[in-house]
Amino acid sequence: MRALGPFYRERVGVSFATMAGSSLESCTCMYASCKECHELWRQYSLATVTHIQLADRLRFAALQNDLDLIETLTVETEGAEKTRTELRESIRQHEKSHKNGMFQAASQSQG
Ligand SMILES: [Zn+2]
Repeated sequence: MRALGPFYRERVGVSFATMAGSSLESCTCMYASCKECHELWRQYSLATVTHIQLADRLRFAALQNDLDLIETLTVETEGAEKTRTELRESIRQHEKSHKNGMFQAASQSQG
């Protein structure tokens, strides 16, 4: 009987990461050496957490019929959602530049 080595654990780790990032075609690991990728993904996960938290608070405010809070949180939630979408698009564009080989030019901006 063969033991399930570290490979098995790695696979589990990867599927977990995929789950956390929903439907990502490619993850950061592909461009592990790229600081911009890391930064974009870091910002994106922050924006995701912020968005989820705001949506949660909005749901709670709605339950309590707190109209003022609902209004404030609606604006904030929409803003967070927009930020999240924009970051997702930035990642898409950035990853495209990797594929086009334009990455070297991009990586030279601000060391
Ligand atoms: Zn990159």
